[in-house]
Amino acid sequence: MPELPEVETIRQGLKKHTLFKRLKRALVMTPKMVRGEVGQLQEVLANNRFTDIDRVGKLLIFQLENSPLSMLLHLKMTGQLIYPVPGELVAGGHPFPEFNVDLPNKYTHLIFEFEDESSLYFNDLRQFGYVQLVTPKELVAVRAQYGLEPGMDDFTWENFSALVSGRATKLKPFLLSQQHIAGLGNIYADEVAFYAGVRPDRTLNSLTIAEKKKLYTGIQEIIASAVEHKGTTFRNYADHEGKRGGYAQFLQVYGRAGQKCQRCGQSNITKVKLAGRGTHFCEVCQK
Ligand SMILES: [Zn+2]
Repeated sequence: MPELPEVETIRQGLKKHTLFKRLKRALVMTPKMVRGEVGQLQEVLANNRFTDIDRVGKLLIFQLENSPLSMLLHLKMTGQLIYPVPGELVAGGHPFPEFNVDLPNKYTHLIFEFEDESSLYFNDLRQFGYVQLVTPKELVAVRAQYGLEPGMDDFTWENFSALVSGRATKLKPFLLSQQHIAGLGNIYADEVAFYAGVRPDRTLNSLTIAEKKKLYTGIQEIIASAVEHKGTTFRNYADHEGKRGGYAQFLQVYGRAGQKCQRCGQSNITKVKLAGRGTHFCEVCQK
């Protein structure tokens, strides 16, 4: 699932390349991926321009020039956005299908066409992603559903420790819950727990101060590093020099079930199901 670093990567790319470009029209091949009326979306977008692209957690927020409405776009489990630019890969989200296949393809459900003949493609293997127009008041309510966000000013130790204290919740579902910590998903939740040396099934009220501090630091360091490396989106992608990019090369536990732990070298990475999600950890390094 695309998480904060993957969504931030496409946000930065789209801001650079699509702001203030005149939209010609929105083509909707899969109406169920539009929340609300398809006709209204098309009417609002036609001849309009994106003036800013913001993000809260994993949700993209497009501001429009000629409308008080904002367009929300969520990639959910398998969404991807691709804006083909010669010599540059402006893309983000789920790594399948690979970004360099022909567009549109059978996973393309929405196309935002610009007047300069360029297009932004919204692909989604499983079609859980969506776009939705919201009023300013609705946008305030949407933003209020999100918790502390790594990288933002209010992600302070005081706020974090207050949030963690006294809860009987297990660590993994807590990290996944967007109303507590915005932007973390399955990959980075597992990596954060490993960084902190804490088992993902520990309850929050059993954590020591030192463990909470390591979690607080880990969330920030891992997210910052993943944003810098453009997330794990590009794990299958090699650039024009054949160099593989992305944060995937730094993953310590996620996707490494059965492999030797790179930190202790003693145990193989264990994979269990927790909070309904495949969860990876080291039995030696994490207490
Ligand atoms: Zn280990």
